[in-house]
Amino acid sequence: MKIDEAYKTEKQDFLFAELSREVARFKSENKNAEVIDLGVGDVKFPPVKTVARSLCKAARLLKSKKSFCGYAPAFGYAFLREKIAEEYAKNGVCVLPSEVFITDGAKRAICDITEIVRPETALILTPTYPLYKDMCEALGAKIYLAEGSAENGFFAPPDKNACPNVIYICSPSNPTGAVISKQTLEKYIDYALEKKSLIIFDGAYSSFLSEPFCPFCISGASAVLAEVRSYSKSLSFTGVRCGYVIIKKENPLYKAYCKHAILHCNGVSFISQYGAAAAYLKSAKKQLRARVQYYKDNAKIIARELDMAGASFLGGQNAPYLFLKTPCSGFEFSKKLLWSRGIAVTPGEGFCAQNYVRISCFCSKKQALAAGRGIAEFIRELALSD
Ligand code: PLP
Repeated sequence: MKIDEAYKTEKQDFLFAELSREVARFKSENKNAEVIDLGVGDVKFPPVKTVARSLCKAARLLKSKKSFCGYAPAFGYAFLREKIAEEYAKNGVCVLPSEVFITDGAKRAICDITEIVRPETALILTPTYPLYKDMCEALGAKIYLAEGSAENGFFAPPDKNACPNVIYICSPSNPTGAVISKQTLEKYIDYALEKKSLIIFDGAYSSFLSEPFCPFCISGASAVLAEVRSYSKSLSFTGVRCGYVIIKKENPLYKAYCKHAILHCNGVSFISQYGAAAAYLKSAKKQLRARVQYYKDNAKIIARELDMAGASFLGGQNAPYLFLKTPCSGFEFSKKLLWSRGIAVTPGEGFCAQNYVRISCFCSKKQALAAGRGIAEFIRELALSD
């Protein structure tokens, strides 16, 4: 049997699977202990009311012969594509419904586009979501890592020595919560135009932005950039599955993506798309703003405790994560924190960052309070044992 080399790699495991196993080991050895899981970054609450109702209505529509529908269109239902295009127009950006492609999540879109391009070289701005590197490694691409730091606002400038087929930018960033500046993105767009690269702009956390921002407002972006968005975290759709990608017609990727979608996809679930469309209702928008604020308030609660413990950290303002500098490796810190305080966080090494951990704020206020105190106590304890 001939199997593509990309799928023969020994490295099958995603960072979060390892983390889940460690939490499971802890739970099995500490039967009565309660774990505060701020590791994987999955949502913990059901969708907001208006969206939840819409999901139920979609299921009811499928019960009736009159309203039942079968296969969904490969690029998504017009009712959702139009709503998304209208939302871009409200922010002053012209996107046609035919330039919106509904997917079963951001991950699918990122992987599909990467497979369409099959990059020989890729530029990844780190620290970042591990998928880009894992995917490029699997496809055998030469990878350039552009390291973010406090000096460059956690988005390194373009690497003049590289000639990447694909550039991955995640903003707001998972894990740092940093937002790319307009000036830096302009530089990347000019660079992509010069090097004939494609930018995959991962906006999975765009609903957490304090100031709305769309990369297509930058001149030249339409020809070189694909913007990926997700309903996973904003609508609690990590299990429902829905997201989208915007590819403008002037982008050479456009036709290839259409062909790929027709070949690979029989559409995204009607229920998911119907539920997602409800997010654009006035009542849902209000509820969603409150939900995002709830997560940001959790970030503030934890940040206050970290501040008092003298810790150095980033994020929380435009993303549901805090990125904490650790006195030892992120792996060591997260393991010790789990086994001493029952709090799970993700080691920064998984995001190409040494001596950091990512703290997810997808939790209840009560958990945020307990976790903030627990992590701060642990930091003080480590400082004393130095
Ligand atoms: N992009 C980033 C930066 C993420 O953090 C995640 C999930 O956590 C994804 C994409 C995947 O999102 P989805 O659930 O829409 O596939």
